[in-house]
Amino acid sequence: MADRDGFIWYDGKLVPWREANTHVLTHSLHYGLAVFEGVRAYKTHLGTSIFRLKEHTDRLFNSAHIYQMPIPYSREQVMEAQKEVVRANKLESCYLRPIAFYGSEKMGVSPKGATVHVAIAGWEWGAYLGADGLEKGIRIKTASYARHHVNVTMPRAKLASTYANSILANMEATDAGYDEALLLDTDGFVAEGAGENVFIVKDGVIYEPEIASALIGITRATVHALAADLGLKVVTRRLTRDDVYIADEAFFSGTAAEITPIRELDGRKIGAGSRGPVTAKVQQAYFDLVAGRNEKYAHWLTRV
Ligand code: PMP
Repeated sequence: MADRDGFIWYDGKLVPWREANTHVLTHSLHYGLAVFEGVRAYKTHLGTSIFRLKEHTDRLFNSAHIYQMPIPYSREQVMEAQKEVVRANKLESCYLRPIAFYGSEKMGVSPKGATVHVAIAGWEWGAYLGADGLEKGIRIKTASYARHHVNVTMPRAKLASTYANSILANMEATDAGYDEALLLDTDGFVAEGAGENVFIVKDGVIYEPEIASALIGITRATVHALAADLGLKVVTRRLTRDDVYIADEAFFSGTAAEITPIRELDGRKIGAGSRGPVTAKVQQAYFDLVAGRNEKYAHWLTRV
């Protein structure tokens, strides 16, 4: 990733990609306190536009607030910087990665006294779980690792160290030949994917787990809006892994994963074992929306 042409916004300036470096004694590298976002920009008929820029930027600031990390820029500056990154790298569609982290002024658990840095990179990134997965659905595996308990870490924050748990689960699943992991909470109920929220469909109704220990996904909120438009009900309740086994359909939602159908969990085929009709409708509506083909949500697209 480091050896590329282009520019990264780093502490207020666009710097050449290869020069966007930090010291090895960066506090966040040692103790894991960095907050970040995953944002996508799409090509639309009005030009390249960032999807739900405000919501992602708000979540970045909320993550920082939860961890008492003072971001030395305003939300407006960080939003403008994300637009600048897309323009400077001449990207038609891309993934954006804003990150705020502590510098190298000190060691020890407390970050007090370390400078907060902000960087934003952007690059082309296709289907996170594969183009084939978007069409045919993916195979997932329940992780042996539980998702964080709410008193272990703060699930509302998109925090770097939280992802060590996602990495363990994802590696376990992919080493076993699956595409992604499904994590349960510490009570054994379905929480989320390693980097996605999860939904199931049963008898025409969409169900999603209570998200106590999951990230509040922005794509998830988009699914809620689109489901309502399609006349589909979304019910939030505790879900067990066997609720997923006997569902008619299942899908993941996420900025990177977009709407990815799930065709199998733990070796059990879900429904017909392919992208189901409800998932297909939600997925089509999502891709129409992000490509600017749904006037109702034009305000969720920010032209760069
Ligand atoms: N859960 C986790 C753990 C994630 O990493 C993500 C991706 N940010 C999501 C859910 C989905 O969130 P969003 O739709 O905002 O990308």
